[in-house]
Amino acid sequence: MANPTHRHSRSRRDKRRANWKGQFPNLAECPECKELKPPHRACDHCGYYNGKKILEVVSKEL
Ligand SMILES: [Zn+2]
Repeated sequence: MANPTHRHSRSRRDKRRANWKGQFPNLAECPECKELKPPHRACDHCGYYNGKKILEVVSKEL
């Protein structure tokens, strides 16, 4: 029966998770403002996606 025979130790489980926790490094340049953004997301800085403004950007800077 396809079942794990032995449970892995906490150490082994944590070592495995250490590699994927908080993984989000893939960033692409926004074609509008040249800021880095995750691909297939609207840009945080200018609110553009696919050449159209679809988000109203609330400025966080003073
Ligand atoms: Zn942008």
